[in-house]
Amino acid sequence: MKIAVFPGSFDPITLGHYDIIERAVPLFDKLIIAIGKNAQKKYMFSLEKRIEFIKKSVAHFPNVEVDSFEGLTVDYCIEKKAQFVLRGLRNPADFEFEKAIAHTNRTLAHHQVESVFLLTSSGKSFISSSIVREIINHGGEYELLVPDAVRI
Ligand code: ADP
Repeated sequence: MKIAVFPGSFDPITLGHYDIIERAVPLFDKLIIAIGKNAQKKYMFSLEKRIEFIKKSVAHFPNVEVDSFEGLTVDYCIEKKAQFVLRGLRNPADFEFEKAIAHTNRTLAHHQVESVFLLTSSGKSFISSSIVREIINHGGEYELLVPDAVRI
């Protein structure tokens, strides 16, 4: 059984995340979207809200689960018997950042966890949760950049 974990903050989930999820669904037997809890980070949406937004957005996919975790992504993958970490790549900056994380994770997991990257569809690569939060803070039309389930 091929199991992948898609880790992230999802504060909130965007159409960019959704694009990656939709395209990863046929590649794995199970996809776990996992919100990493980071005590140092300030979030706009509570963990419960972020989980609710994702659950509603992916409810129609039978093989997608939503969860949260504390600690290292690789430890969570091993706990869930996931062989793959899924990440999205928007631009060269994402690549540089993700490259270091992927090598680190593979080393920490003693080569038991592979990272798999999907390129964002054109037209979605400019979207980020931080841009969405900025639009929300200024009363803009954030609905254009997020799944229908995300409403404040
Ligand atoms: P993190 O705090 O781990 O960066 P995010 O929720 O911002 O969490 O992102 C989670 C994953 O989703 C990352 O792999 C990121 O590259 C990817 N991602 C975010 N926005 C997009 C987008 N517009 N297109 C493709 N991937 C994206």
